[in-house]
Amino acid sequence: MMIRRKAAVAALGVAAAAMLAACGSDDGSETDDSMAGDDAMTAGDFPEGSTMAALAEAGSITIGTKFDQPLFGLKPPSGDPVGFDVSIGKIIASELGIDEDSIEWVETVSANREPFIQDGSVDIVVATYTINDDRKELVSFAGPYYNAGQALMVMVDNEDISSPDDLAGKKVCSVEGSTPAANIEENYPDAELSLFAAYGDCLDPLRNGQVDVVTTDNVILAGYVDQYPDEFKVVGEPFTEEPYGIGLAHDDTEFRMWINDVLEEIFEDGRWLEAWNENVGDILPEPEVPTVDRYEN
Ligand code: GLU
Repeated sequence: MMIRRKAAVAALGVAAAAMLAACGSDDGSETDDSMAGDDAMTAGDFPEGSTMAALAEAGSITIGTKFDQPLFGLKPPSGDPVGFDVSIGKIIASELGIDEDSIEWVETVSANREPFIQDGSVDIVVATYTINDDRKELVSFAGPYYNAGQALMVMVDNEDISSPDDLAGKKVCSVEGSTPAANIEENYPDAELSLFAAYGDCLDPLRNGQVDVVTTDNVILAGYVDQYPDEFKVVGEPFTEEPYGIGLAHDDTEFRMWINDVLEEIFEDGRWLEAWNENVGDILPEPEVPTVDRYEN
């Protein structure tokens, strides 16, 4: 049970802010780390009744991410997943005063992201999740925190596919409920599309010739090429825009704007780039800082 001490906490907040302002100029290093420390946020730091207050009060958060996508979300046989999406999730948790060990990671594949948000199985989704209008009917998105684009991956010795215009009559593998699959269905109807639950499921069919090409976002494919450079290659240029957002409950605008504030803060203070460099920086070029879209709904 929680007893609200809003006025006292607010007063303390003012005093603490004054103290910080007084000593903050010492070495300018107050943006040091993303770990929840002694000055971690607590429920009283957030508006009463907000999702932020509820999560901070619970001291835990459930985050949906991918488990089979190297670089962004990959779960080792034992232990928690790692990747850029995972790091972004950890930063959001830390801003709620929630320690890494108190994050529950749930695998979200492409097709179950909206249902998992809608039925409360997860609090947020950070999972190479493209922001688009259809999805915005069902869930809301903070972000973007990265801009990807759809691309193609083939076996290293394949010479006949280098752009989506080469897909007619070709066997194309992608994932149910994904934007790349929808794009092929709509705009490249002569491709023979096979859909699986997760992108990792396309790798063996590509190896054994059941499919000719795998399509999804360039950064996901880059992760597989990094894992299996002797087998796979990415061909051509990205041919769509896939702005990655953080999915959350539809119309929780207060929570959405708060996550947007966190994103803008970490774009600014270096934590976003640090997360990129830790996970992806050796493989992919440094991205441009995205512009958060505080859309009206
Ligand atoms: N970004 C695309 C999407 O959200 C493809 C990647 C994925 O399926 O996670 O559908």
